Amino acid sequence: MSRPVRVRFAPSPTGPLHMGGVRTALYNYLFAKKHNGTFIIRIEDTDQTRFVPGAQDYIMDAFKWVGIMPTEGPGIGGEFGPYVQSERKPMYRAYAEQLIQSDKAYYAFDSSEELTQMRKQAEQMGMPNWQYNNVTRTSMKNSISLSSDEVQKKLDNGDPYVIRMKMPRNVDVRFEDEIRGWVVVNTNNIDDKVLFKSDGMPTYHLANIVDDHTMEISHVIRGEEWLPSAPLHVLLYEAFGWESPKFAHLPLLLKPDGNGKLSKRDGDRLDFPVFPTNWTTAEGEIFSGYREKGYYPESFINMLAFLGWNPGTQQELFSLEELTQAFSLDRVSKAGAKFDPDKTKWFQQQHLRLRDNEVLAAELKTLLDSDHSLEDLSIVCNLMKERATFIQDIITEGGYLLEKPSSYDEKTIRKKWKEHAPGLMQEWSTELQSIESFNAEAIESTFKVFLEVKEMGIGAVLPLFRLLVTGRGMGPSMFEIAEFLGRKECVERISTGILEVSNVSSNA
Ligand code: GLU
Repeated sequence: MSRPVRVRFAPSPTGPLHMGGVRTALYNYLFAKKHNGTFIIRIEDTDQTRFVPGAQDYIMDAFKWVGIMPTEGPGIGGEFGPYVQSERKPMYRAYAEQLIQSDKAYYAFDSSEELTQMRKQAEQMGMPNWQYNNVTRTSMKNSISLSSDEVQKKLDNGDPYVIRMKMPRNVDVRFEDEIRGWVVVNTNNIDDKVLFKSDGMPTYHLANIVDDHTMEISHVIRGEEWLPSAPLHVLLYEAFGWESPKFAHLPLLLKPDGNGKLSKRDGDRLDFPVFPTNWTTAEGEIFSGYREKGYYPESFINMLAFLGWNPGTQQELFSLEELTQAFSLDRVSKAGAKFDPDKTKWFQQQHLRLRDNEVLAAELKTLLDSDHSLEDLSIVCNLMKERATFIQDIITEGGYLLEKPSSYDEKTIRKKWKEHAPGLMQEWSTELQSIESFNAEAIESTFKVFLEVKEMGIGAVLPLFRLLVTGRGMGPSMFEIAEFLGRKECVERISTGILEVSNVSSNA
């Protein structure tokens, strides 16, 4: 019987969570939901030197924003806690010692000066990549090379030591990655990794597998950068006699231009966020986030989901719920996923269109200090949403729906505002005043009759009407705009517009 699905996202709190990290968390979340499993967050803070205050809160806040909250973790609870490795510190030593007892690991007493010295010597002898491994360990200071009396003396003395994995010689480690298929690595390429440090803390490797085992993790879904560690982890599971979780190593996120891993610097260079939310460094430097740039969480996760996965159909727009249904690890690709800032904007544009006008109206209201009703603002949103990517665009593109235009499009003036224009618009204004019920349909049919009578084409008249009422050369249906603004406002705008535009064009 297969075990219940329990997956974890295990960030080290060394800074803000990069969007690649959010993608890893998202895939874990989707996988858990799809299989009625549990999504856990565990903080891996064994490297205290790289600890950045605020990083953990930042991660939780980002998860809350995108809507992928774990059900077990620090501050959340669960039966397998604590979920922060530094709080689990007392339990790791016994596991490391268990490996010494079973001859899978050993004490190493070499000081860091001695190790540096060794590396230097090797380099001078033409071996630049010296490793502490199954060949060199015999000439180092450890519980393999020293007698058991000497070792005991050192331990009794309180001499500092680390515990290293006793990497077997020339063994092929094999495991089946859910995304990459069979991975085979020979142990001769792996050094005797430190499992337990002289400061009494486990290293990432030991803590990671002890926790995955004790938290009953069924699948380890993580970034490709951890693939080189996986053979060691597999050997550790074997050494302990534990069942290994299944592994899935996700493809890297690549720069939009050229190759290479997407980095924080690419964001600065190409002006797009690489973080979910704003991050302020201790020095006060701000790195921008998707949230603050006006992206919706649903666009952000839809975009992230497609960086390395596809549903195998034409469908591109997904809600979180739909992603949960559609997601599977066998549709995750091995190849790196190129981040595309334009596509990211496209997702945002599409999700804005999917939002109800009433919802958009409420968002718009928070950006305005005028007292427009929500009803009016929803009409504005309905008219403008096809032309907006962010809610702010509704104001930039359709501000004339909320107040009179303050300038008039020069190109339209140059191309269309001919001598006859003031008189023609005056006549059209008179027509508008005679329409019985002032709605888009009636305005449009009156307009058609007007064109016929004048024997003019739409392109000669409509742009003038639009120019005077909106100040723009383009926009949504003029008849709907006119209905929304109302007869009085249209007529007023036309007469003011005639004066202003005539002024501008005679000065040009
Ligand atoms: N702490 C590692 C990280 O920062 C976790 C890797 C893993 O998921 O095993 O990404």
